[in-house]
Amino acid sequence: MDLYEHQGKELFAKHGIPVPRGIVAEGPEAARAAAEALGGPAVVKVQVQAGGRGKGGGVVLVDSPEEAEAAAERMLREGFQGRRVNRVLVEERLPIARELYAAILLDRSTGTDLAMVSVEGGVDIEELARERPEAIRRQHIDPEIGLHPYHLRRLTGALPNELRDLVGNVVAGLYEVLTTEDATLVEVNPLVVLTDGRVLALDAKVTIDDNALYRHPEIEMLRSAFPIDPVEFRAREAGLQYVKLDGRVGIIGNGAGLVMSTLDLVHQAGADAANFLDVGGGASADAIATSLEVVLSDPAVRSVLVNIFGGITRCDLVARGLLEALERVQPTVRIVVRLDGTNAEEGRRILREAGHPMIVPAETMLEAARVAAELANAEAAR
Ligand code: GDP
Ligand code: MN
Repeated sequence: MDLYEHQGKELFAKHGIPVPRGIVAEGPEAARAAAEALGGPAVVKVQVQAGGRGKGGGVVLVDSPEEAEAAAERMLREGFQGRRVNRVLVEERLPIARELYAAILLDRSTGTDLAMVSVEGGVDIEELARERPEAIRRQHIDPEIGLHPYHLRRLTGALPNELRDLVGNVVAGLYEVLTTEDATLVEVNPLVVLTDGRVLALDAKVTIDDNALYRHPEIEMLRSAFPIDPVEFRAREAGLQYVKLDGRVGIIGNGAGLVMSTLDLVHQAGADAANFLDVGGGASADAIATSLEVVLSDPAVRSVLVNIFGGITRCDLVARGLLEALERVQPTVRIVVRLDGTNAEEGRRILREAGHPMIVPAETMLEAARVAAELANAEAAR
């Protein structure tokens, strides 16, 4: 779960990392009042779970409350790079002398955490990492050993003397956020040095491990601040794994492996997935029915591919679930169905006898992918 910048900064402040004074605003008037409270000049920052705001008009320096109001009005109306925006962060405007970078993330390949500090930061950190990797100091932190002063000395050793302790304290704070809040990523870009010498986190990117959310109900509650995609919301309510993509074929399968290989086959067949939904093992007729409703409610879908390998899941129940769903929703696109495994014969017979005009049975995965891709491309060409 990716937090908004303002939510990340609240966690930072809780763990002793200095951040600018800021106020969240959900409307233009509130943004104006926030700038007034901060003394007039301010920075208005769009709140989205994406980076690149600095370059894309999502961060605006304003000189007055009126300008703050206008900037907020535009951001809330336009959204940001196709995402809905329902709040902005209005912050005090600070005189920046220098921009640095600090981050800690879970490094799955070594099973440790990886801390990084760079003497340069700002909007072009990816470029810096590519062109001058030596400018970024890296230090693995074994979770069984924890963070120690020698880690901090190594990480901050390329900085001027007067900055080492200040930046070291920020890294220690980030490690505390990572471990106590169960984050897999904490990133500050830029970490700024002000003209008066203070060091502050000007931005915050925090990703919390979804598997640990049960330990942090107060973080889970932050979700209520995110704009909701209605399709995703339905899927989540029903306990289904749903992911939105850019293509035209809706994909339903059981089990992550089968779903992934179905995506590949559809791609090979010349189309791409509009979304995919994993109904999991032991899928009931009702789960299948809900899945179909969810996938069909995505307006980008031009054909659906249902690919089920019956194990614990019984194909006859899947077939009944599909027919049940087709009583609840009237699909305008064709649904290609491939059933294999437990009770597949029975499932196919049920579908055959129902003879529903929108269901297209397929024998193999490959054939199913080919037919679904053809149908989607033909529909899209109309
Ligand atoms: P991102 O592009 O989405 O990562 O957004 P950031 O929060 O990192 O902001 C992008 C850039 O805006 C920063 O690198 C700063 O140069 C600038 N910026 C943000 N806040 C302030 C501020 O308070 N004062 C000044 N002068 N610049 C700021
Ligand atoms: Mn940033």
